[in-house]
Amino acid sequence: MTFEQELQNALWAAHSLFERGRATGSAANISFRWEDAVYISASGTCFGRLAAEDLVPMSLTGEALGERKPSKEWPLHLALYQKDPAVGAVIHTHSTYAVLWSLVPGLPEEDVIPPHTPYLRMKLGRVGFVPYEKPGSEALFAAFRARAARSDGFILRNHGPVVPGRDVLDAFYCQEELEESARIAWELRRAGLA
Ligand code: ZN
Repeated sequence: MTFEQELQNALWAAHSLFERGRATGSAANISFRWEDAVYISASGTCFGRLAAEDLVPMSLTGEALGERKPSKEWPLHLALYQKDPAVGAVIHTHSTYAVLWSLVPGLPEEDVIPPHTPYLRMKLGRVGFVPYEKPGSEALFAAFRARAARSDGFILRNHGPVVPGRDVLDAFYCQEELEESARIAWELRRAGLA
């Protein structure tokens, strides 16, 4: 795969998530690793209009390498690249069913989405909650880093999912599975069946 292909995959994933209502406004962010840099959507960008110049480079230690500011949620992305060299992309959204599921009382902190179908486990693995802290705050990033090693995917409570993958398309498929699995869990719970 070339850099240009991975960049196009990131734009396609962002547009697709926006068009299907899984990323709204300027709330979501996406990144991929290429050689010694991470390319992440710039601060304030909208997935529906994301263009090649909106993916801005950062070092793996957190320095912006371009002129534009990266998304303020960049520490969530870097925590996953630093945790595992096999991580090649990260997607963060505020997708509805993952957020709804994070509001259900009494769930465990780890392995939070029941495996009603096998696909989430097969594709991504286990998903853990990260306690609520103000978006963009150092308290949230610290809470996230403290839990990064325990789970494969994450839902920030009252906020949204953070999902890694080997590359952009893999992260996209994992985000899709997480959202669908949260939707199934939510609907079953609402119907009183689980
Ligand atoms: Zn967010």
